[in-house]
Amino acid sequence: MLFEGIVFGPVRSRRLGVSLGVNLLPPNSKICSFNCLYCECGFNFSSSEKYPTFEQVSEALEQRLKMMKEGNEPLDVITFAGNGEPTLHPDFERIVDATITLRNYYFPKVKVSVLSNATRIADEAVFRALKKVDNNILKLDSAVDSTLKLINQPIDNRFSVDNVVRQMSLFSGDFILQTLFLKGSYKGAFFDNTTDDEVAAWLDVVKRLKPKQVMIYSLDRKTPVECLQRPSVEQLHAIARRVEELGVSVSVTE
Ligand code: SF4
Repeated sequence: MLFEGIVFGPVRSRRLGVSLGVNLLPPNSKICSFNCLYCECGFNFSSSEKYPTFEQVSEALEQRLKMMKEGNEPLDVITFAGNGEPTLHPDFERIVDATITLRNYYFPKVKVSVLSNATRIADEAVFRALKKVDNNILKLDSAVDSTLKLINQPIDNRFSVDNVVRQMSLFSGDFILQTLFLKGSYKGAFFDNTTDDEVAAWLDVVKRLKPKQVMIYSLDRKTPVECLQRPSVEQLHAIARRVEELGVSVSVTE
C-alpha cells in the first residue's frame, strides 16, 4: 500500500502515538535503498515523477499543521516515513530544518521522528539532519551480513553490517535502534533472525552501540512476499529481556 500525497494521516502509530506522516518520495513510486521482503509499500518501482521540492514539502506541512492547530487536533509526532527511504531526498537536511521550525511554531511539544534504514548516514548532511531530530530511528534487522541481505535486499552490494554499525557508532548512542524479527524463505533461501546465533550477534551490536532505545517488532501488515512468519510474542519478549539486561531501554510492539 502506498501513502498518498506529501503529508498523510495523522495515523495512530503502534510505536509513536498520533503521527502525521511526511512522504518525501516521488508520487506513485516506492523508492528505497533496501527492498525489504516485508515492506508494507511493496517492492521498489518508480514512475517518471520527481521528488517533491523543498517548497512543496514545507508548504504542505505548514498548511496541515495550521489546520490541525486551528481544529485543536491531537498530535504526538511528525514522522518522516512514506513510500521508501526519506534520507534519499536531495534536500533532506533543509526539509528537516524547516520541519523543526514549523513544529516549534505550531506544536512545540510534538516530536520529530525519522524512520531510516541507515544506508545514508555516511552522508554528512544526512548525519547532521538526523542529529537534529528527536527520534532518529535506524533499522538493523540482523548483525549477520547474509541474513540482512536476504531480509532487506540492499540495492548496493557493498552494504555491510560492519560499515553501518561503525557509522551508527558516530551517533554516540543518540538514536533508536529498530529491529523487525521474522523468519521465512525467499527464492529457496531460508532465514530466521531469531535463532540463538543471530540474537547473540545482534545483542553484541546493541551492547557496542548502546542506543537510547531499542524498538522490537514483527510483521503486522500485508507483505510483498508470502512465506514470512512472525515469531511468538513470548519470543519477542525474551529477546527484549536480554536487551534490558544490557541496561538498554526496550519496547516491544506485539
Ligand atoms: S527500509 Fe523501509 S521503506 Fe525501505 S524497503 Fe525496507 S521497510 Fe520498505
